[in-house]
Amino acid sequence: MTAVIETIADLRAACDEARGAGRRVGLVPTMGYLHAGHRSLIRAARETTDFVVVTIFVNPLQFAPGEDLDRYPRDLEGDVRACEEEGADVVFAAPVAEMYPKPPKTRVSVADLTADLCGRARPTHFDGVTTVVAKLLSIVGPCTAFFGRKDAQQLAVVRRMVDDLSMPVDVVGCPLVREADGLALSSRNAYLSHDQREAATVLFESLRAAADAVAGGERDAATVAEMLRGSIAARDGVEIDYAEVRDAAEMTTLDRIEGEVLLAVAARLGETRLIDNVRLTVRGDTVTADLGTGFRPDGRE
Ligand code: AMP
Repeated sequence: MTAVIETIADLRAACDEARGAGRRVGLVPTMGYLHAGHRSLIRAARETTDFVVVTIFVNPLQFAPGEDLDRYPRDLEGDVRACEEEGADVVFAAPVAEMYPKPPKTRVSVADLTADLCGRARPTHFDGVTTVVAKLLSIVGPCTAFFGRKDAQQLAVVRRMVDDLSMPVDVVGCPLVREADGLALSSRNAYLSHDQREAATVLFESLRAAADAVAGGERDAATVAEMLRGSIAARDGVEIDYAEVRDAAEMTTLDRIEGEVLLAVAARLGETRLIDNVRLTVRGDTVTADLGTGFRPDGRE
């Protein structure tokens, strides 16, 4: 049975009690409208911890004015059902007035890692994310926290925050879950029209083609970034925000592709902004691509 908790005091007490009984606490922070990607995080938490807390909070701090805060899809009933099916112990669904009873004057901000990529188009976004994640970690206490590699920059930023602030938290990155045709699962996919949904497959197609080029020996980062841009730009209705080749931990630019490398893209389809990435491990001639899970590997045209 999954308990639904709506206050900070009750969540803190439940986590303290679980740890007091020797249980390891697992935290899965989300904005709700749960899909198979979120469910995979809950399952990962189930496998390695004993008391799984899923938080559902559409955090106003991480949306800029004019972004989709008001229309962000919400379905608390469905989310509680999904959490129950996946065996979560607690759903934390606090109203905004509980999380921010007064406008918060404090921000947790990670420098440099947040300056580019999604931080360029959304300059206040990551401060909103790190502030709410720090707050959730402060409420939940020592735990293992699970994040999806779908949001690769967010994962790097959260890891750095936890490290810099010596938070008593293990951060675990989980595989990116895709639709059968390769589109990365996202709550925002619900915004896409039929035509946009079809066009959106170009993101993964272009990432996979770029990963293939690296596997085939291409090591020039600018060439691979141009490949990504070219293939995305060729699809009608898809406007590139960025298509980049970066160091996977520091998000810095690269000349040559070697080590842990992120191929990262963001694009707009109408009003909807989607992101995707593929992580490469390149050691000399050996290239391993982390394409994620859930798609049909032979689904290529
Ligand atoms: P969100 O609800 O979009 O804020 O996402 C909550 C968590 O779920 C974050 O750690 C995301 O990275 C993760 N997540 C979202 N979509 C996916 C996906 N397709 N695969 C894996 N994890 C995901």
